[in-house]
Amino acid sequence: LTTGVPRETLDGESRVALVPATAQALIKQGYQVQIETGAGLAAGYLDEAYTNAGATIVSNRSELFSNSDIILQVRAAGANSDNYSQDLDLLSSGKVVIAHCEPLAEPEAFRGYADKGVTLFALELLPRITRAQSMDVLSSMATIAGYKAVLIAANALPRMFPMMMTAAGTLKPAKVFIIGAGVAGLQAIATAKRLGAVVSAYDLRPAVKEQVESLGGKFVEMELDTGTSEQKGGYAKEMGEEFYRKQREMMSKVIAESDVVITTAAVPGKKSPILVTAEMVQGMKPGTVIVDLACEKGGNCELTVNGQTIDSNGVKIIGPKNITSTIPDHASEMYSKNITTFLKNLVADGAVNINMEDEIIADTLITREGEIVQPRVREILG
Ligand code: NAD
Repeated sequence: LTTGVPRETLDGESRVALVPATAQALIKQGYQVQIETGAGLAAGYLDEAYTNAGATIVSNRSELFSNSDIILQVRAAGANSDNYSQDLDLLSSGKVVIAHCEPLAEPEAFRGYADKGVTLFALELLPRITRAQSMDVLSSMATIAGYKAVLIAANALPRMFPMMMTAAGTLKPAKVFIIGAGVAGLQAIATAKRLGAVVSAYDLRPAVKEQVESLGGKFVEMELDTGTSEQKGGYAKEMGEEFYRKQREMMSKVIAESDVVITTAAVPGKKSPILVTAEMVQGMKPGTVIVDLACEKGGNCELTVNGQTIDSNGVKIIGPKNITSTIPDHASEMYSKNITTFLKNLVADGAVNINMEDEIIADTLITREGEIVQPRVREILG
């Protein structure tokens, strides 16, 4: 089988779907690997590194698509909504595409793939089961995002994170509050602790408390009825507006006392809940910083603008768009490992094997033989 890796076309996307080391591993397994010229450049991988790994560099994108049985991308369909239609022109019936696709937020893009007869997989829909852990791109990218969010906050804060006892006096450590302690939030807690901050966190899934504490964070207790807040796979459910109102009320004080607030609260397939209102921002001290990791899904702060830094009475609200692309080398390395593990599960005896009994395949398969087949996507499209 031939796998092809096109250059990513979204503006500012610097990751690549396959790094040379994993390309080499695929070649050892018997694949042909073709890479579009310059595909790895923004992540620090020269064409030469791929050639040394045994891959072929192809300068013509259309040729790359037609040579490949399986196309590996970071972004396809709705995850590259302005540009994916150019790829549709290069795709033909029977081709397999594996990528991030924004399946629940932008499902309309899939009609084009179905019409072309493409077999498309969206990695965001991987089930959260042990066997799929090493394929889980959301966890990998959340790890990167949580780490980088803290660095962005530290860089924007007019104070230092650690406590310092100096001849010029004792400097107090920064107080960091993290809302949502999933993969990104936990990584943010660990990173802020390493920098010496005093860290507290809240998540509506009660199971998280222990994890927060094991990283040295303080779990902020709130008297909220979170009874059924966890759904299948450990994801949070959408709570009612009344719940969010109470939650905001209870968090106001912690937020007002924090130097840095990092928000990561997400509900899969839904707009992110507003947990920090404009009024709550007014209660924060000038010089403090909010980094909103939910910025691409509407944001957890009312004032967030995706891709911008807003100044509200001296409080900076940062919406770091495509944050994982700012650490493209490691992000690509992790993505590459995830996507090749997925591929290994998909291919048997040198052929693509769509085994619908396997929930990894059934959950991620979006289009096949001219149809949109993913049940959740079909439900949204109606
Ligand atoms: P996510 O990105 O969907 O959400 C981030 C966090 O925000 C979650 O912890 C969620 O509970 C929290 N949240 C949502 N609404 C909130 C609110 N109103 N207030 C406070 N917090 C709110 O989640 P995630 O980081 O992808 O992970 C969720 C869970 O899934 C974790 O427990 C993780 O360990 C688990 N997981 C399991 C596997 C696996 O078994 N293969 C893989 C990855 C993650």
